[in-house]
Amino acid sequence: MISVTMRPDGPHPPAAPLRLALDHAALAGNWRTLDRMSGSAAAGAAVKADGYGVGVRRVVPELVAAGCRDFFVAHWQEADEIADLVPSGSIAVLHGPLDDADVAWARSTGVRPVINSLPQAARWLAGGGGPCDLMLDTGINRLGLPLAELGDPLIGRLEIAVLMSHLASAEEDSPLNERQRLRWEAARRVLPHRRASLANSAGIALGPAYHSDLTRPGLALYGGVPCAALAPLIRPVITPQAALLQTRTIAAGESVGYNATFTAARPMQVGVIALGYADGYLRCWSDVGTVRAGGHELAVLGRVSMDMTVIDLSSAPDLREGDWVDVVYDLPAAATASGLSQYELLTLLGKRFSR
Ligand SMILES: *Cc1c(COP(=O)(O)O)cnc(C)c1O
Repeated sequence: MISVTMRPDGPHPPAAPLRLALDHAALAGNWRTLDRMSGSAAAGAAVKADGYGVGVRRVVPELVAAGCRDFFVAHWQEADEIADLVPSGSIAVLHGPLDDADVAWARSTGVRPVINSLPQAARWLAGGGGPCDLMLDTGINRLGLPLAELGDPLIGRLEIAVLMSHLASAEEDSPLNERQRLRWEAARRVLPHRRASLANSAGIALGPAYHSDLTRPGLALYGGVPCAALAPLIRPVITPQAALLQTRTIAAGESVGYNATFTAARPMQVGVIALGYADGYLRCWSDVGTVRAGGHELAVLGRVSMDMTVIDLSSAPDLREGDWVDVVYDLPAAATASGLSQYELLTLLGKRFSR
């Protein structure tokens, strides 16, 4: 057997050369904005995938303090990660109960399953049941109960706290939005439930007809802008920051990094920062990305490596080893520049960032 010695008085591990700075006021402000836009509905928060990569254990207390009382995660493990931070009964698990262990854990913790299918409904009821949420599939054809199964006696036995559906194209001006809303309204009229919830971030901007009792923003809380209507209202929340590991001068004609994709036209001062594709700063930023330091915007030179990226220090020659730079990561602009979605840009930021 391996014995583990706890060393509460031991030295702290060294600080990471990478951090994901969080603007707490902007996060709380975005939630309040979305809550206000939700009108008579309350805004909840989607905090799955470690709070979209922002760090769920620092996001959730901020949202609780702002007044948020409904939290949505995908996995049961994600509910466990935040259970001590939120009032009891305020977490729903979107994937639903996949086996009897999920059912038992939900019943002992008060975390609500979102029932997505007849087998999940049967599993929940067989385990004793109790308040649960129900996800109806009104046209995304992903997870959720098909409308054709709405009349099944199993569904009639559920104690539905939140009746939900999810929009497929809320960020677009698509006829599918109205089609889904009408199907959902029809279902709402026949299924008893305490509260109803349809809109994600972009759905909130579709107007009061989409708000009902509870909205479920995710992306926009974290500074993502899914549609033009939200652009003037949503503030950026995160800034990736990296420390300089080394600076050097390179001669005209020298190249930088793997495969020598950048060649200096003149002698240059360059710096190496502790950020690479293993941290989610993908190779699409090679020769394209920029960072900010002391009011200057500095270009990424050459290929992004696994753990390192080289930047041009020509306009900031005083930067030294150990200094920090802000990575330019404005989500809508970064999505356009990289071809990645704002959701991907957030959730791929790796675990080496201190959060
Ligand atoms: C992720 C998710 C949300 C949040 O969506 P955003 O587009 O990030 O606002 C809402 N509802 C469900 C069911 C989700 O899976």
